[in-house]
Amino acid sequence: MVKIIEEILNELPKDAKISNTYFEGANIILYTTSKDFFLDNGDVIRKVVGKVKKRIELRPDPSLCMEMEKAEKEIKKLSPKDAGVTEILFDPQRSIVVIEAEKPGSAIGKHGEILREIKNKTFWVPVIKRTPSIKSKIIENIRSVLYQNNDYRKKFLNKVGHKIYDTYTKSKKEEWVRVTMLGGGRQVGRSSVLMQTPTSNVLLDCGINPGIETGPESYPMLDGPEFKLSDLDAIVLTHAHTDHSGFIPFLYKMGYRGPLYCTAPTRDISALLALDSIGVSFKQAKKNLFDIQDVKEMVKHTITLNWEEVTDITPDMRLTLYNSGHILGSSMIHLNVGNGSHNFLYTGDMKYLKTRVLDPAATKFPRLETVMIESTYGDKNAVLGSRKKAEERLVEVVEETVKKKGKILIPVLGVGRAQELLLVIESAIREGRMKKLPVYVQGMVWDITGIHTAYPDFLNKDLRRSIFHKDQNPFLSDVFKKVGSRKEQDAIMESNESCIIVATAGMLNAGASLEYFKRMADNAKNSMIFVTYQGAGTLGRRIQDGERKIIFSDDGKASEVEVKLNLEIITDFTGHAGRTELMQFVKDLNPRPRKILVQHGESSKCIDLASSLHKANRMETFAPKNLEGVRLR
Ligand SMILES: [Zn+2]
Ligand SMILES: [Zn+2]
Repeated sequence: MVKIIEEILNELPKDAKISNTYFEGANIILYTTSKDFFLDNGDVIRKVVGKVKKRIELRPDPSLCMEMEKAEKEIKKLSPKDAGVTEILFDPQRSIVVIEAEKPGSAIGKHGEILREIKNKTFWVPVIKRTPSIKSKIIENIRSVLYQNNDYRKKFLNKVGHKIYDTYTKSKKEEWVRVTMLGGGRQVGRSSVLMQTPTSNVLLDCGINPGIETGPESYPMLDGPEFKLSDLDAIVLTHAHTDHSGFIPFLYKMGYRGPLYCTAPTRDISALLALDSIGVSFKQAKKNLFDIQDVKEMVKHTITLNWEEVTDITPDMRLTLYNSGHILGSSMIHLNVGNGSHNFLYTGDMKYLKTRVLDPAATKFPRLETVMIESTYGDKNAVLGSRKKAEERLVEVVEETVKKKGKILIPVLGVGRAQELLLVIESAIREGRMKKLPVYVQGMVWDITGIHTAYPDFLNKDLRRSIFHKDQNPFLSDVFKKVGSRKEQDAIMESNESCIIVATAGMLNAGASLEYFKRMADNAKNSMIFVTYQGAGTLGRRIQDGERKIIFSDDGKASEVEVKLNLEIITDFTGHAGRTELMQFVKDLNPRPRKILVQHGESSKCIDLASSLHKANRMETFAPKNLEGVRLR
């Protein structure tokens, strides 16, 4: 028997009647055949948790669970009407019943009294989830993939637990910790960092380079000598942008079957982006890097964590995710490595300002020695203007274009800026600062907005509060119109009415934004507003740099588009921290780290930020190139 389980069982009284023990990742699950012990164990379990410092959950043995049909009736009877229960899903393998409700608070009851009653009467463990206010197909699909693979999931999670706990004793090898850049070193794109100790190999992010279509520089340098897929213990993902998440389904295609750790919204949006890339490739008659089955494998192997939930991921690494303020669910990765000997923070992409959607990145940690920070806007000249001014400029451009009877195209990344912008536009219209006009939200942006309403816990307090009230939910405003089909796109283009179109991709490299651009470009009445970073090599960047004659080749036919529309660049909406924020963030870090590694920025920006941080804080700083490794301990 695994040592940790032995230790736990020794602490429990005889009448606990533990019939089975399982791992769900690092969580330890005990099943009991004793009704009394399940319903009331005093603080026996709490005391054991305090002693072994692991998460332990007590569940009824499946033999105790009430028949599902009966239990469903009982749950419906016990749930108050105003809870708005929409779905009841049983997971008999784990003795868990998921109850989806419009008002989770009412479904839980005062001090959890309704949950307790459900437990008492049915001997199932109830878990309450919020019904999203905008229906999301991707969330439904992901839940059904997980549901259909319950059996596999249970075995997989148990295996993950064994890998963490089987070598529970301290390793006697000489201790060291090192990080290697496999991508994102002095560049924006293909972010990937390998973290190694004598016992563990963990990958932080694994993205593609959206600026380069195919070629050796499109993907992280997994052919580097340090990396071996078969030795990989875990992947941790900061957020759902393809420059961080885009290569992960390919690892599953290549046979990786280990865990992927991230927040639930990151899982959902990454899956959505991966499926979208398959769709885009299909339309362009190109072969995609991976297919639907590989995305399913990724979802099946994802272990979701909430912010500030501590979990072991290997025998000598403990992971905690913290808010990074960048997009929905985006996280900084904190790793307590080598049995606590080193504490490492990888910021991923971050924002250190409160936005309409999110709170600023966290700065307080239990311990901290090394920080790896992004530097998209890291150089001295990249000081961002105020958000208020950016909002005013946006309103001005819209008004000017409406006066000319033109249309406004805003290419977005789909996640993050898109929702921020929708909220800016909604509030400007609601407060009368902008004339009411239709805002066409293209398919995927809409889906991702739906995911926002499903995870209010990851939003800032103000937005969370308004989402809880149906009539105040800004995402449900009637100015927003969902556009899906080609026919609907045609109708918008053929109409004379002024409107705002919010569509992906953000750098015009593919997707609906490119289609709209081709049809709007040669009309000087129209406007296009860039609100996101335009990566080197993309069409967006070429236009931003002044190119005005664009040659397209569709199905072998070449066509030329002249860019006459009015181009506006408002980068101050960016989800990245500007120079001032980055400097302030490091200053505010608590505790103060000893070493800063700078990456995720063009070469000059990485070097500039590294040298400024060194001067300002007297800390050791370094901007590693790809394949450069740093020993942390
Ligand atoms: Zn990002
Ligand atoms: Zn990024």
